[in-house]
Amino acid sequence: MHKYVIMGPQGSGKGTQAGMLARGFGLVHISVGDIFRWHVQNRTKLGTRVQRYMNEGRLVPDEMVAEIVKWRLEIHDWRHGFVLDGFPRNAAQTEFFLENYDIDAVIAIELPEPIAIERIQSRRLCSSCGLDYNLIQLRPHVPSICDNCGGRLVTRADDTPEAIRTRLAEYREKTQPILDLLSEKELIVRVDGTPTPPDVVQAEIRRRLGLGKAGTDASEPKPLAEVTR
Ligand code: AMP
Repeated sequence: MHKYVIMGPQGSGKGTQAGMLARGFGLVHISVGDIFRWHVQNRTKLGTRVQRYMNEGRLVPDEMVAEIVKWRLEIHDWRHGFVLDGFPRNAAQTEFFLENYDIDAVIAIELPEPIAIERIQSRRLCSSCGLDYNLIQLRPHVPSICDNCGGRLVTRADDTPEAIRTRLAEYREKTQPILDLLSEKELIVRVDGTPTPPDVVQAEIRRRLGLGKAGTDASEPKPLAEVTR
């Protein structure tokens, strides 16, 4: 059983790295941002409550986040463990997390802000299947069209210049300080997020966590809809 948290500023590739790690070792990738995006897309009550925060790049209030994390971890579909992506993001969430859950390590992906901004601005998302693209490294074969399903590629609603600035400031002011707290508990594994392609960062994460080459990346993660039903 492996229980990991992955953290990093927007654009650091934490979602990509979490997905690779999860697929490689049969872990469940739990992305708090993806769960919120699912609620927004499906116009649930929670979705309407969180949409404004997300579009502005602000953190969603802690009670709603704690509720979602608790709900998701109570679905015990993570027999081999999980990679929790995007939680905790501030001191209150860290306290709640450390009180309630045991984890093996926190992977902190480090990336200078100018590179993060460049990467976020080049990010595209399939409006149909949700696959991520990056116009620097992971271009679609046909511009603006998803290789996987033919869907239209769009920019994330919170990838506007103002929202990017707000999200990076939120990370710097609220999330960065909790890394020190987690460091004191010797849970942190800091990894440089600048190398490309993503496999290089993934290999370093696995090396630092003491995980062998082991897993295969072949199995696809479950669509969120299957776990939100
Ligand atoms: P992400 O996909 O991780 O970039 O998250 C997208 C957005 O979801 C963030 O900008 C926040 O508005 C919201 N969000 C995700 N995780 C959290 C969290 N732990 N605390 C507060 N808001 C969050």
